[in-house]
Amino acid sequence: MTARIIDGKAAGAEVRAKVAAAVPAFVTATGRAPGLAVVLVGEDPASDIYVRSKGKATQEAGMIGQEHRLSAETSQAELLALVHRLNTDESVDGILVQLPLPPQIEEAAIIAAIDPDKDVDGFHLINVGRLATGLPGLVPCTPLGCLYLLRQELGDLSGRDAVVVGRSNIVGKPMAALLVRESCTVTIAHSRTRDLPALIGRSDIVIAAIGRPRFIQGAWLKPGATVIDVGVNRLEDRKLAGDVDFAAAVEVAGAITPVPGGVGPMTIAMLMRNTLVAAHRRAGLAPPAGL
Ligand code: NDP
Repeated sequence: MTARIIDGKAAGAEVRAKVAAAVPAFVTATGRAPGLAVVLVGEDPASDIYVRSKGKATQEAGMIGQEHRLSAETSQAELLALVHRLNTDESVDGILVQLPLPPQIEEAAIIAAIDPDKDVDGFHLINVGRLATGLPGLVPCTPLGCLYLLRQELGDLSGRDAVVVGRSNIVGKPMAALLVRESCTVTIAHSRTRDLPALIGRSDIVIAAIGRPRFIQGAWLKPGATVIDVGVNRLEDRKLAGDVDFAAAVEVAGAITPVPGGVGPMTIAMLMRNTLVAAHRRAGLAPPAGL
């Protein structure tokens, strides 16, 4: 069997186009465009690239982007003061503080200071709790993007066996919570898991979010499984590889995301989606359907 390749670039473009198409109605209803403020502390080159691409995507969606670039020496109090200002700025619907932060700043304190209704990264404890208890909230962008791809590929996910490999707060845990919400039977695996190949071998859905290149072997997969590879690993030859051994997995899986071009483009698309949804909720409007 040769797996279908799930095109995250196309799906991401589709989500961004849907967001852009919904902006004019929001402007008509409220007299303003949705706004996203992105905060970058320091000059990490990778973070700089992410912040630029977020700004570009915001503009392309017809939304208003604010970029706040602070020096690497910024104190926690200074960053908190900016977050408080953005919380009360009526033109800002989404606040994203680019991680990681320099060592003098405690990430948890910054995340806790963001208004949960503007927390488009979905990291605030209120949003974590909303996801866990099934209340509407803001969900982290990467797992939300994975769910979009799964729904597009499989339709109804109910009753399927899923394994999420990785238990981080930004990918693994929210991914598992989303799959439970979709009525999958979910196993979360991590570095202490005893028999990962056996767990993977009985799963219809495999989410790999480990950060180890080509770790998951094609031979471990259940034939026909849907594989979502979140991993982004830089190899010695500078090429990117996922957490799944793609060349072998493609012969066994039913569908699989490539790296690059799979989950990556969905993350920014879902950030645009979250900003649009946050703007609607803040304005007392129902978020557009189908996003
Ligand atoms: P973390 O390092 O925070 O978490 C990695 C997880 O993998 C941990 O839970 C760890 O287990 C688990 N793990 C490590 N080794 C093994 C193993 N041998 N067997 C099973 N589980 C293992 O990573 P993130 O969740 O932040 O990211 C994961 C990957 O996804 C990275 O490659 C990252 O670059 C990528 N990523 C991609 C994004 C995108 O937009 N495409 C966005 C975010 C991340 P334990 O808890 O026991 O240590």
